[in-house]
Amino acid sequence: MRPVPTPRLHIDIDTGVCIGAGQCALTAPGVFTQDDDGFSELLPGREDGAGSALVREAARACPVSAISVREE
Ligand code: SF4
Repeated sequence: MRPVPTPRLHIDIDTGVCIGAGQCALTAPGVFTQDDDGFSELLPGREDGAGSALVREAARACPVSAISVREE
């Protein structure tokens, strides 16, 4: 059985909208973290969103729709 390729993603976090609720980091902790002020940021080296199912779930979980995800 061949592995299914995971699409590379482009993830945008609108830091002007983010309220630091933390749902993204809770939902996809391998991709998102929070800075010292609680605002969302991408973990270094994970900007392409490896683990796309969780990235999309994190975007859906954001209460202010600050995260957008598209395939590259
Ligand atoms: S879930 Fe949304 S509001 Fe909360 S930290 Fe993540 S991007 Fe910001």
